[in-house]
Amino acid sequence: MPRKTSPKCKQCRREGQKLNLKGERCLTAKCAISRRPFPPGQHGPTARVRLTPYGTQLREKQKAKNVYGMRERQFQLYFAKASRQVGNTAEFLVQLLEMRLDNVVYRLGFGKTRSLARQLVSHGHILVNGRKVNIPSFQVKAGDVVTISEPTKKSKVIEQELTRLEKHEAPQWLHLEAKTLTGKVLSKPAGADLKQNFDPRLIVEFYSR
Ligand code: SF4
Repeated sequence: MPRKTSPKCKQCRREGQKLNLKGERCLTAKCAISRRPFPPGQHGPTARVRLTPYGTQLREKQKAKNVYGMRERQFQLYFAKASRQVGNTAEFLVQLLEMRLDNVVYRLGFGKTRSLARQLVSHGHILVNGRKVNIPSFQVKAGDVVTISEPTKKSKVIEQELTRLEKHEAPQWLHLEAKTLTGKVLSKPAGADLKQNFDPRLIVEFYSR
């Protein structure tokens, strides 16, 4: 599945909020949202945006797609899968997105950003239950053990990351053992772990029109 490749800071400026797509840079004064807090484009600085209810729903959907680095078709498939389940579609949608392998690698802190985490997966550096999995959209399940392959663990890049990982706080549904670079999926994400910087209920409304 192709990934979204448009400039990341532009995506944040379009949404008018930090989507934290560039790791540590997002926490510094270099963040484009701090330096240019208006939409991109020639008319960006003078643009007066008044969103209709449809526009608001559309923007929430675009935000979620940008956060997880997805294209429309792939995102639609996630929504279709979530809506087939009985219960709260908005929660199911976020659960499906969170349980993608590239997102789990990001949440465990192995990759500083979701795009780096995706690269780790697609380049074959990640093992699930001891077997190499190079599909970023692979859905993990409770009990799965996610780790970095042995040759990669010995690489300089990962060794330099160990100090950061020891301070990293994984969400409650994951358990991280920084010393061995191993993570375990304890359960499906629920409650506070489903909170995102977009509103999934508006996405459900968008696709249910
Ligand atoms: Fe978004 Fe700022 Fe990070 Fe760029 S640096 S991706 S604008 S949060």
